[in-house]
Amino acid sequence: MYTLPDLAYDYAALEPAMSGEIVELHHSKHHAAYVIGANDTLDQMSDLVAGTKPALTVGLERTLAFNLSGHVLHSIFWENLSPDGGGEPEGDLAAAIDTSFGSFEHLRGLLTRATISVQGSGWGILGYEPILGRLIVQQVYDHQGNVGQGCTPLLVFDAWEHAYYLQYKNLRPDYVGQLWNLVNWADVARRYRGAVAANTSMTS
Ligand code: MN
Repeated sequence: MYTLPDLAYDYAALEPAMSGEIVELHHSKHHAAYVIGANDTLDQMSDLVAGTKPALTVGLERTLAFNLSGHVLHSIFWENLSPDGGGEPEGDLAAAIDTSFGSFEHLRGLLTRATISVQGSGWGILGYEPILGRLIVQQVYDHQGNVGQGCTPLLVFDAWEHAYYLQYKNLRPDYVGQLWNLVNWADVARRYRGAVAANTSMTS
């Protein structure tokens, strides 16, 4: 059973960049719905094995991908943010960003553009790609579309309207600009080191 993780900070702790009302709704309603959806879908898939309608598994697998990916990305999102966030990465993560993108400013531009330009609902993501062992920026639709398989998300920006509309209305670029002031680079660096350590792919 998946469970909704507690936040490491109060709902109001990310103000003024992100209002307490948004964080509370986003965590206790939206994220919670993906947790329930993933668990319910797994239950239905279990039941289905004993049933007589195998075609239904296609719909259930799509539903599981949506809800489970929603749970995974939101779990990362909350830990990527901190009331003490902002600034720039340091150490091995900063070096990997320079190698992959040329500079932090270039990454910042790429991830900002990826997040702002999502059509409909989705995410801008900084991920670790296991073949070359480099960092890439991805634009994911809903929670699971347009995903580069095998990539590990390190820093995820939620571009769904529920993440900002209550506070920023239609001004998604302003919301994304404020997100950079909340980034917990220590958490992103921890995820980067974990992804490198776990990479057992065909890299030489
Ligand atoms: Mn969300």
